[in-house]
Amino acid sequence: MKRTNKNGKPAKNRKIPLRPAARNPNVLSKRTAERATDKLVALAEAAQQRAYAPYSNFHVGTALLTDAGVHTAANVENASYGLSICAERNAISRAVLDGARSILAVAVVTDTSPPAAPCGMCLQTLAEFAPDFDALRVTLANPAGERRDHTLADLLPHGFRPRDLLRR
Ligand SMILES: [Zn+2]
Repeated sequence: MKRTNKNGKPAKNRKIPLRPAARNPNVLSKRTAERATDKLVALAEAAQQRAYAPYSNFHVGTALLTDAGVHTAANVENASYGLSICAERNAISRAVLDGARSILAVAVVTDTSPPAAPCGMCLQTLAEFAPDFDALRVTLANPAGERRDHTLADLLPHGFRPRDLLRR
């Protein structure tokens, strides 16, 4: 199905050409990852504008590049605080519903300086769909233009992986 925006026109900024690294289709080439990052940060910034965070006033936007395209989301809070959901996990849920199974790159935008990293729960959720912790680029940014590039391995060095279930 062709993606459209709310006016029925083709969505813009959604096309990031995927160029896998030669040997592994689940890993982006370095060049593609670098080119994708600018777009992902811009999309995450746009998503941040739609955050629903009346309690914390901590607005977060996320954009994911996956094997099914680009997916964005923001955090959504609730008066019953425990029901609040982070932007990253919202984006992952949207991606999975769109058919994604591999996350290739992530951008997270917050207003903090330096830009904040995802919480542990979101890192673990990213791990579920990260074929390679060392290759998954997680870019942390803020609207002032600060940017920090990490890998999931940097942020979750000893994370539990789906394959660990098989090592009994
Ligand atoms: Zn989180």
